Amino acid sequence: MSMDIKPKHLIKIIFPLIAVIFLSLIYVGYTDLKSSKEDAYEQARTNIKVAREYLELHFNAAENQLFLLNELLNKRFSIADFLASAQHVVDQQPKFSEIGLYTGGNYYATNGVTVTEATERVKTRPWFQVSREAGETYLSPIYMSRSTKKWSVTLVKVARSYEGRLVHVLLEMDATGLYQQLSLLKTLEHGYLYAVDLSNRQVVMHPDERRIATPSVSVSPELIEKIRSGQLKGTIDNYMYQMQWKFSVYDADNPFGWVLLSGTIKQDITAKAFNLGAVGLALVAIIAIMVIVRFTSMLIHNNGRNLIEVNELSELNQQLTKMIHGLLPCNQVMLFVYDEVANEFVDVTCNHHFSYVDVASYLPVTKHRSMRVNKHDPYDVIARTIAPHQNVIRVPLTKQQHVQGIIYILGATAKTPWVVNIYRNYAQGALNHVLLRQQIQNKDQMTGLMNKNYLRIQLQQTLQCERKNYYLAMMDIDDFKMINDGLGHLFGDEVIMTVAEKLKRFLPQNSTAARYGGDEFSIMFQADSFADAKAKLSVLRDRISLHRVSYENKECQFTMSIGCAPVTGDLDSVISAADTALYEAKGKKRPKVCKHDMLDGPCQFYEPKDGSDPQMLCTGKNSIVA
Ligand code: GH3
Ligand code: MG
Repeated sequence: MSMDIKPKHLIKIIFPLIAVIFLSLIYVGYTDLKSSKEDAYEQARTNIKVAREYLELHFNAAENQLFLLNELLNKRFSIADFLASAQHVVDQQPKFSEIGLYTGGNYYATNGVTVTEATERVKTRPWFQVSREAGETYLSPIYMSRSTKKWSVTLVKVARSYEGRLVHVLLEMDATGLYQQLSLLKTLEHGYLYAVDLSNRQVVMHPDERRIATPSVSVSPELIEKIRSGQLKGTIDNYMYQMQWKFSVYDADNPFGWVLLSGTIKQDITAKAFNLGAVGLALVAIIAIMVIVRFTSMLIHNNGRNLIEVNELSELNQQLTKMIHGLLPCNQVMLFVYDEVANEFVDVTCNHHFSYVDVASYLPVTKHRSMRVNKHDPYDVIARTIAPHQNVIRVPLTKQQHVQGIIYILGATAKTPWVVNIYRNYAQGALNHVLLRQQIQNKDQMTGLMNKNYLRIQLQQTLQCERKNYYLAMMDIDDFKMINDGLGHLFGDEVIMTVAEKLKRFLPQNSTAARYGGDEFSIMFQADSFADAKAKLSVLRDRISLHRVSYENKECQFTMSIGCAPVTGDLDSVISAADTALYEAKGKKRPKVCKHDMLDGPCQFYEPKDGSDPQMLCTGKNSIVA
């Protein structure tokens, strides 16, 4: 069994495949987001736990020291003994910066500090709380130590001495030093651990020292309320800190009255998911591009199909202009059609004629592709004439390797003309269709010349484009009825075809010849002046008249009368002027060169010559009248 895989089958699965990849990425991104969120919370909780244990350890140690020192107070003791023990403790533990004793209005501390009559000054110290009773231990708010110049907290134990006097034993701790270890507790990329004093919402530990002793952003009065009502642990979601969304996990379950917090910016969590999101976005962009390409090609093909319905060359030019303008920026689009008989390219809207005797060398098969013609390229004569200072794109339209026409796109900015090729096939098809139709509609089947209809279109275009120095000549075979009657209709046909033949051969340049009907022909041609037009017609008439037509042993020479008028004004008046001139030419009845060598049938016009046999000579016409 053989598998028959066609491109369409593969194309069909591309979109579903992309959709699957995209959805998978969304799923992976989503689960990753979820897991990194869980990871972050878990990490934050662990950090808090570690921090709590660490702080508890230190505070317990401090409390133990205070307990031991307090023991001294229960006995008869000297201040000096107390300070000696205290100094020993402070020296042992660098994070304990000072141990003090406030009793009887005096303050004694390690490192030789003694302040007598300190009652009033003590009241202003941050560690002093007047409401405290004997037996209580409490932690002071954060403050800048006067002696160490470091952020500090003091653990205070209130007791009674053996004499029953109220004593405060104080142990000042370096909070910054304590935090040093805790600063290593990171949460994801940017998270850190910090602590807030529940009693006054002041930040007590923070990696940014400037934040210490300032009110906390995350610990709101509502949160404090919540904690006080028993919710000692939890999370604070979505709050703005330094222009970034953050979350924090909090834990206030400790004996020192702080809430420990750890969290990070939300971006840390989303960053990973964003990476996947970016891949997803790229895929969406690819899909969008594919959709755009599909839609564009649909538009292009619809336009292309419309092109096929065009019947006239000028309409084809209009449609092409519209389509190409919709495709790329350009100034103008000009369609030229190659006239094989005249060997020239004709601009379908304004009748520019460009003769190229050797079209194969002008547009050899190798140059049948669309190409950009640089404004300095001298070889493309059409381009240089219609657009002397512009780059153009040249799109040859061919049929079986024969050039049928060329599209010139003027002032196109596109560097490569591949984009134009999208329309090329359609343009070729449409041109072929219009030309075929023209051939059927506008050609005289018998002579191969164009017909009256075509001539009228050409005249109309010449008038519209206001092209100068064009003339219309109406030509009619003299006494054609006589030829028909005397030599037969078939002979008459032969005469008509001979005239057509001669016209094609001897037609002046930039001319259009047509069989106007019956034995009447017309040509539109260019001449410098009326005199020049007449001279050209005279040459043409003589070339046709000098010819002897023979057919089935019959022979005949004939003449033609010609009426001529300049192509100006409106179509009907041009034709009518030329007609009138023809009519006048016919009326002149001057001797003519026509001679019928008829084998049978009478010739109605004789002009005897002296001493010779009577000849069947026609009289008088053969003239040109303007
Ligand atoms: P004049 O010099 O005034 O033009 O005279 P004429 O005899 O040529 O008169 P006219 O131009 O009116 O004659 C045209 C004749 O040509 C009439 C018609 O029978 C004949 N005719 C028209 N078409 C054809 C054709 O295709 N073949 C032949 N053999 N005769 C045609
Ligand atoms: Mg005639």
